[in-house]
Amino acid sequence: MKTNQKKEIQELKKEKDAVILAHNYQLPEIQDIADYVGDSLYLAQIATKVSSKHIIFCGVNFMVETAKILNPEKTVIHPSTDAICPLAEMVDVESLKWFQEDHPDAATVSYVNTTAEVKAVSDICCTSSNAVKIIKNIKEKEIIFIPDRNLGLYVKRFIKDKNIILWPGICPTHHSRIKREDILKLKEEHPKAEIIVHPECQPEVIDIAYQVFSTNGMVRYVSQSKKNEFIIGTEKELCYRLRKENPEKKFYPVATAICPNMKKITLDKVMKSLKNLEPILNLPSDIIEKARRPLIKMIEIGRGD
Ligand code: SF4
Repeated sequence: MKTNQKKEIQELKKEKDAVILAHNYQLPEIQDIADYVGDSLYLAQIATKVSSKHIIFCGVNFMVETAKILNPEKTVIHPSTDAICPLAEMVDVESLKWFQEDHPDAATVSYVNTTAEVKAVSDICCTSSNAVKIIKNIKEKEIIFIPDRNLGLYVKRFIKDKNIILWPGICPTHHSRIKREDILKLKEEHPKAEIIVHPECQPEVIDIAYQVFSTNGMVRYVSQSKKNEFIIGTEKELCYRLRKENPEKKFYPVATAICPNMKKITLDKVMKSLKNLEPILNLPSDIIEKARRPLIKMIEIGRGD
């Protein structure tokens, strides 16, 4: 990026009283201009702490909604409203309600990768880093877990005394673009590298991993590890951040592991959003209020993760 463009962004941020938050899967040039980079929950929580009036959120729709739900008084701007998470779209309120009627004693645990409307009819939310802890902590013995089936299968490895009913959702990037054979090929090429994968990957991928982490978990782990080489089983742009923060270490992503929706946010769109302070994400106040409860419950139980 040119120095004068960087300077212009800094000046605009000041002039407009804006802060830029970017998910770990954003393009390198977006990560470089962001004030904070992290996973969706970290960013939503950061949003509660920043004093800026305007939040430019570089991520997919459910993340922007979560930031708004936790910060209803702030103006949250989504530079590309077509950046939608296909996993979050795999569960809708109507189908979920039918399912809940069939399982009246079950608690609905909703992965944060859901729409605000779905969160509003859920009992509690979870992230990939705290899902096991959250489900262990709730009293119900029957759980409807939405929408990621692979994450649900991973959670089931640790919880045997509850009936966890899974929803048939998947993340196309982690499920279909990170194959066991891709990881094994990377391992053949880099035998000393440790395999770390995200729990949204298929069970057969998780089976060959040395560690399973959320993206922020990966960031923490590799910086503390004595190992120098890692095969990273998640969206490949996380490696940009990992390399930047650990220049002495080597990271090998799966070349096909791309989330096309995350890439819809470009530098030009962010610049436009900064200049015009739009498009603003708005949610009905009753949805904000109802969706806030399961998120706050999660934050209370999951504190410390
Ligand atoms: S990587 Fe998967 S879960 Fe994350 S935003 Fe893309 S499609 Fe959704």
